Amino acid sequence: MKKECEIVQDLLFGYQDGTLHMASKELVEKHLKSCKECSEIFREIKNDGKEEEEQKEEVDYLKKVNKKIGKKNKLLMVVGIILGMIILFNIFIFIYYYHEAGKISIYLKDDITEEQMENIKTSILNIDKNAKIEYYSKNDALEKMKERFKDRENLLSGYGETNNPLPAYYVIETSLENAKKIDETIMTLEGVEKTTGSFEANPYEFMLQTLL
Ligand SMILES: [Zn+2]
Repeated sequence: MKKECEIVQDLLFGYQDGTLHMASKELVEKHLKSCKECSEIFREIKNDGKEEEEQKEEVDYLKKVNKKIGKKNKLLMVVGIILGMIILFNIFIFIYYYHEAGKISIYLKDDITEEQMENIKTSILNIDKNAKIEYYSKNDALEKMKERFKDRENLLSGYGETNNPLPAYYVIETSLENAKKIDETIMTLEGVEKTTGSFEANPYEFMLQTLL
């Protein structure tokens, strides 16, 4: 190998990077024009540089793709969480419905007799002997109403024992299925003003009625 070739080959990387001084650069260019061997080596160096760049581009591309996949996964996770919450909320509503919707209120006429009251209780227990029956007198009803409208007490302040506008009532706790049967039976009995039950609503209506 000629002496000049050695020097030029040492300089080739610097030449490729563009970091050579003017004088060295000129030396390399001049030599490359006349020396096949060094030209060949320089071509290889250039190709290596290209490959490196291509590899870098590939890596960059892969990074971008990974980022995109990461974003997609995050989106899927958020969608999954929302769906999960909706499902849980629905399960909650249905459990709440089957647990709570078997309640009926039976409002009684003011002139109801003891006998008629007994008849109502018996009819309920005939359908569900485990039904929970609670009685609220007219006075209880007024007290409860006053309690409920505590912040607007003057609304009910004129009402007392002698002019109580509210009816006495029973609250029946039973199963959802029995609530419907009891309601149908009780509605026709003497001394009953009216009945109300949440079992007529579907679970969502029931939830809304409870919340509002
Ligand atoms: Zn040479």
